[in-house]
Amino acid sequence: MKGRALMAAPSADAIARELSGGTDATWRDFAARMKRETEAVEPKESDDVLVNGKFLGHAIDGGVSLLVRRRLRKAELSLSREQWDAIAPKILTIGGIRPKRGSPDVPDRGHGWGDSFDINADRCPYLIGEGPEAELDAELRPVYNRIAELILGRKSVIPRLRERQTTQPEAVRALWHELEAESDAFKRYFSLLNNRNNMPTVVNWVRANSPQASLPPEGLSYEELLKQYLILAQQPKLIDLKTGNERKLAPKPTKQGDRPFAHSDPRDGFLDALPEELVVALVKAGLDWGACAMGSQSGDLMHFQYVGPGSNKVKILEITRRLAQQEPVPDRPLNEPTEALAQILETGQAALGSNLAALAGSAPGVAEALDTLAALLTAVKAAGQADDALVDRALAGVRAVRPA
Ligand SMILES: [Zn+2]
Repeated sequence: MKGRALMAAPSADAIARELSGGTDATWRDFAARMKRETEAVEPKESDDVLVNGKFLGHAIDGGVSLLVRRRLRKAELSLSREQWDAIAPKILTIGGIRPKRGSPDVPDRGHGWGDSFDINADRCPYLIGEGPEAELDAELRPVYNRIAELILGRKSVIPRLRERQTTQPEAVRALWHELEAESDAFKRYFSLLNNRNNMPTVVNWVRANSPQASLPPEGLSYEELLKQYLILAQQPKLIDLKTGNERKLAPKPTKQGDRPFAHSDPRDGFLDALPEELVVALVKAGLDWGACAMGSQSGDLMHFQYVGPGSNKVKILEITRRLAQQEPVPDRPLNEPTEALAQILETGQAALGSNLAALAGSAPGVAEALDTLAALLTAVKAAGQADDALVDRALAGVRAVRPA
């Protein structure tokens, strides 16, 4: 492979070969290796990488990259025992690497390279912004806004997720609460599908609890509600509360993709399978939430990813550019620096401790040099280029010996 240049846009197999430094011959090899590595038992003294590929006791289907496993482990460690016990039973599935549907040799667009995973895909909808579904989004926006206005007396936050881009944990928490209010509004509103006779109760609840709500004087319209339900649900149905029987309704056709509630039902809201502390812990650990950190494609509640420095997405951009410009392959495999740097830090630590202690205070500029070293280590950590625990230990060593 080395030195070979490709004329056309590189294939997934070519990218896999470059990405792995020749280890993987095809994308399928890459995906299989990621799965193996994710599931491998790798007990380490510093257990800061997910062992057995399990997050809160749940396997990650297809596996994820090392950098994502590190962040998942960080999220685990940040949770209290009580939070862990409350969250773990709510996780049913975690989906990592997968091929494009129906094409086992082709990587999925968002899930092909181990940078991302979905939590509870069947219960957390992709509410808005799903790739090439602009026409569908135009149908959805007024529905989300109208329901939020009717029940909560404000516009929906869902059509504005693309303007609410954030990776800040507290901003994400605030957004989660706004979404929760709308999820609860959905439950109350769409409960009328099963029992339209319950309309006065719901109307009274809205009048008592949401004085700002813009309820029409004549109350809610069942016809409007049914129309909105059909816009949201891919598998619409009515339920007879007396018998429990379900009657399937014909889904409203879409030109592209499927409707956001593809596997779940608007009657159940959309946030119960995604607890607040889970989302906040994942964001604090350095993962982006698909709801509010994917630009115009934001709205993907189930989706989390790491696409920053060192991620496969970043490496693939570089590989694609290099292959397109027919530049030769560098001698060093692209995935080497992470491990090499970790090793340097590890072996350097003991020396660092004793040498710096001897140096401190004895030479001019030592404090400045140590500050530079600390800044370098901080940058290494921010770039996700080495074991966070190792870097933290090295940083603590530097700070301990720095003269005041
Ligand atoms: Zn996803």
